[in-house]
Amino acid sequence: MKATIHQSTLEVIQGDITQQDTEAIGNAANSALAGGGGVDGAIHGAGGHSIMSELKAKYKGCPTGSAVITGGGNLKARYVIHAVGPRYSGSPKDPELLSSAYRKSLELCTQNKISSIAFPSISTGIYGYPVEEASRIALKTVMDYLKDHPEIKLVRFVLFDSKTYGVYEGVLKELTTRK
Ligand code: ADP
Repeated sequence: MKATIHQSTLEVIQGDITQQDTEAIGNAANSALAGGGGVDGAIHGAGGHSIMSELKAKYKGCPTGSAVITGGGNLKARYVIHAVGPRYSGSPKDPELLSSAYRKSLELCTQNKISSIAFPSISTGIYGYPVEEASRIALKTVMDYLKDHPEIKLVRFVLFDSKTYGVYEGVLKELTTRK
């Protein structure tokens, strides 16, 4: 499903983030930037060792709610933006930290003149964030950013499984038909 947000496209698809040809892809990293399972493992596996070498050389971890950028190694995407979402705890800080992980990623796009990015569903795997709540935060944060940042032409959410895809699609429909 596709929606137009001001001058930009916001898209939700089911697929594999490692195969995306957007200029950047987002990663759901941990704050040690140590590599892990899930989407992080898939991105490092497909992108090759240069991504981890660059992370180790440039950054000493990344706080929750923030993001760092590296090259894309062997991926089609030229950059990987490693965002650290919160581990879901039910605390009132969870939504702000999740929103901030996406917002900081988009700010890195602007700073690096990146006009297209694909995101996975940050925090809803191993970190246990309920998908519907997380999708609302993710989509709203991107929509808000796109309103002020026409330089970002395309944001695509790439959901791995059909259930997560269905939730993101439903919430995007709701958010774009409500007004
Ligand atoms: P977190 O630790 O932030 O919860 P995970 O990697 O465990 O991160 O999961 C985040 C989401 O990424 C989950 O919905 C998971 O199914 C999904 N995912 C796993 N592999 C891929 C992939 N190759 N492409 C897109 N999404 C993926």
